[in-house]
Amino acid sequence: MNYSELAPPYIRAIAPYQPGKPIAELERELGISGIVKLASNENPLGASPLAMAAMHAAMSDIARYPDGSGFDLKTALSERYQIEFACIVLGNGSNDLLELAARAFLAPGDKVVYADHAFAVYALATQAAGATGISVPATKGFGHDLSAMLQAAVQHKVKMVFIANPNNPTGTFLGAVELLDFLRAVPPQVLVVLDEAYNEYLPQNLRYDSVSWLREFPNLIISRTFSKAYGLAGLRVGYALAGELVADMLNRVRQPFNVNSVAQAAAVAALQDEDFVRQTCELNQAGMNQITQGLKRLGLEFIPSYGNFVCCRIANPAESGGKGAGQMYRRLLELGVIVRPIANYGMPDYLRVSIGLESENEKFLSALAQALGEAA
Ligand SMILES: *Cc1c(COP(=O)(O)O)cnc(C)c1O
Repeated sequence: MNYSELAPPYIRAIAPYQPGKPIAELERELGISGIVKLASNENPLGASPLAMAAMHAAMSDIARYPDGSGFDLKTALSERYQIEFACIVLGNGSNDLLELAARAFLAPGDKVVYADHAFAVYALATQAAGATGISVPATKGFGHDLSAMLQAAVQHKVKMVFIANPNNPTGTFLGAVELLDFLRAVPPQVLVVLDEAYNEYLPQNLRYDSVSWLREFPNLIISRTFSKAYGLAGLRVGYALAGELVADMLNRVRQPFNVNSVAQAAAVAALQDEDFVRQTCELNQAGMNQITQGLKRLGLEFIPSYGNFVCCRIANPAESGGKGAGQMYRRLLELGVIVRPIANYGMPDYLRVSIGLESENEKFLSALAQALGEAA
């Protein structure tokens, strides 16, 4: 018997998520060390020292179940954002929250709008709920086209829109005015999930107070994470902020202990460590300059990015007689540098590279220069 056929067709149709290659895996394959991984938008500084200390302290209580209500972390978030407990949902990474939103609200037959080249989890969560995704062409230099997304969102049966700001993998950004115009125009029965995984990296002049928008838009769900600027990707912790009624539905489908106790303690400490977030952003800005200037010197195009990563275009082999992005990815692996191919995002001519430490960025740029030299 073919057991996969026991799963509903919409589950069988899911294409598995492709994560960045782990360092240990490449070490096993090549038998080399000193590998640089710039493939998963992780924080090159590691985690905040305050979070590390909180984790060690939390380990003494590891035999106990975590606080399923997340009291300490919700207290910290509610003070930070001046928002009530009832509007906060904690998640096992913000990925969990995207899935909770889909699972709580979507049923087979519902439709969901997102953009081409948007974060892969939107399509995965949509499909897993048996709903149908509408992927809207990203005509604005790979960025979301909100007016086209609005036109899609007013269609019959559309229940949810996912917006990533900044978006991964493209790094594109939408300003507050555009977002507000969209929220005002979208029908109130359409939920808008605003994924702000890279919010902390935005420069002062681009920041906007999306949390204050929750009062005006009870259909808004904001998701944030401790995986990126806070450096806690391995712990899996994120949160969503939403109106009370929406948050209540997410909490009903949430596993009671979805965020472990060590992660909760670390997140509370990380939120207080503003120095660490500032250092992270400064390092990211310097590294972004280093990498984009290096790409320019190599004559490569890139998509201006507002996150901690950037996509560069590797000319199609048919055009240039050189390496395509897939071949370049494999050559960089041999040279000990892991980046991210994004053909599965509909961008077969691009590689995404995360911003690392200065030495890691340098290693990437010199490996890239070497590989391009070989192609010529
Ligand atoms: C990394 C990322 C997330 C989720 O990360 P978690 O580790 O699950 O919190 C969500 N959205 C986008 C756009 C991301 O790039």
